[in-house]
Amino acid sequence: AEDILRVEGLTMRFTGGAGLFGRRNRATVTAVDDVDLVVRRGETLGLVGESGCGKTTLGRCILRAHKPTAGRLVYRRADGTEVDLAALSRAELRPLRTEIRTVFQDPNSSLNPRMTVQQIVAEPLIVNNLASGSEVKDRVGEALRRCGLRPELMRRYPHAFSGGERQRIGIARALVTEPRLVVADEAVSALDVSVRSQILNLLEDLQDELGLTYVFISHDLSVIQHLCDRVAVMYLGRIVEEAETEDLFERPRHPYSEALLRSVPRPDPRLRRRDDVLPAGEIATPDQAFTGCRFQPRCRYAVDLCAQVEPATVPRCHLAGELELDGVYTTI
Ligand code: SF4
Repeated sequence: AEDILRVEGLTMRFTGGAGLFGRRNRATVTAVDDVDLVVRRGETLGLVGESGCGKTTLGRCILRAHKPTAGRLVYRRADGTEVDLAALSRAELRPLRTEIRTVFQDPNSSLNPRMTVQQIVAEPLIVNNLASGSEVKDRVGEALRRCGLRPELMRRYPHAFSGGERQRIGIARALVTEPRLVVADEAVSALDVSVRSQILNLLEDLQDELGLTYVFISHDLSVIQHLCDRVAVMYLGRIVEEAETEDLFERPRHPYSEALLRSVPRPDPRLRRRDDVLPAGEIATPDQAFTGCRFQPRCRYAVDLCAQVEPATVPRCHLAGELELDGVYTTI
């Protein structure tokens, strides 16, 4: 499939004001550090890693909620023309905001309790001048129906709905503008396990029906395994491994991926091993002069070279290909 988005050398740096790291250090954090990534049209690409690894920041850069410090975000429009989202002004971004949409994490806090479902879902249509009059209502009804909700309920307020239904409303709001690319950050994490797989199935059905491309950000590997075609594993601002989902789960190539897979609780305690826990370590620290591999302080395979030289290519491990790493299957 052709690319819909190429992330090239993307870097996002934040300089902390007083408060972020205490008064004295106005530290700089490089949340995303020189990331290259391709998103193919029609696929679901997973971004996985622990909190603080930069996956949310990368997603927010793609949505242009952040203006990247450096690098390019080359988006291919339906007519084949390419634009660099990173270089566009607010005004230039406007028409693209309907094509690239997000589903928020927590349906409880992302839906305005004082607005009816109709107003909530209609908002992006109205803000972007995509429809007016009775067409708005028709399109809202259609989006709700697609998401498995009865359009008759659109006069109600969010509190009248369950958590799963509220997330369906959130998805309807994302889809009402007929986007091509949807960035979903922890879109099912706030939901009960029983509701989670229903929402994941809905996302899959909508993708088939509408030809959507998803960038799906999650720390939850079982969700990633369920939904994604390919996965990029992030660690301290870097992508350390990129693989087809099945390959990653069966044969991880980076020790961090292996550690992540092992840290998934296994249902059967007899299968647990003593090393089934990710070694503790600092994450999301202010910029240090990194020398060597960023995972080295936590890596059980580290050799002398690892502390001195950072692996230059993905998978970012000097020993990639030499190590026999374990994968673990999980299912939801
Ligand atoms: Fe571990 Fe070294 Fe590979 Fe880094 S380069 S992941 S420290 S073995």
